[in-house]
Amino acid sequence: MTKRYGLVIDQERCIGCDACTVACRIEHKADVGFITVDTTDSDLKDVPSGVFPNLRISWISKLCNHCENPPCLKACPVDAIYKREDGIVIIDDDLCDGCRTCVDACPYGVIYFNEKESLAEKCNLCAHRIDQGLEPFCVICCEGQAIYFGDFNDSNSKVSRIISEKEVFRLKEDLGTNPIIYYVPPMEKREL
Ligand code: SF4
Repeated sequence: MTKRYGLVIDQERCIGCDACTVACRIEHKADVGFITVDTTDSDLKDVPSGVFPNLRISWISKLCNHCENPPCLKACPVDAIYKREDGIVIIDDDLCDGCRTCVDACPYGVIYFNEKESLAEKCNLCAHRIDQGLEPFCVICCEGQAIYFGDFNDSNSKVSRIISEKEVFRLKEDLGTNPIIYYVPPMEKREL
């Protein structure tokens, strides 16, 4: 059966350390990490909101959602963006002409424009590692072990089991992009 690779990110386990961002920069020798960590429930990166003992803070890692229906791919005028059979969405550096159309088309704001190279860049789920049987580098480096990688077409995979057993959500589901990045919300936001 065809693979459908993606991630589950557990917000309950994420400690907001940015190790995933650093790992991504190192792996891709990039100016930025193609996965970033936003603080939620507080206006400050590392300071909870509220008054003790009722404090709240959580984090959410954001990256390319490797959408089933990717607006970036449809918008690219030179066909530099393609989707692999396993679902991974790739920008072909050799074909990208730096027009930035995809940057505007992505509803998740996860395409970075490299001014030096005049190239659109984003997470490729470490396709080069996956092709060697390895996991994406952010998964390996996550301090809280909050990121799970796997094949959603395999009902026995860890990621499939998590989304069938736990409450999960995806970003901007209403757009019909059908992301393959799932999130487990922090405990206090789950419907108990
Ligand atoms: Fe394209 Fe953005 Fe979807 Fe990634 S998240 S596949 S860049 S539209």
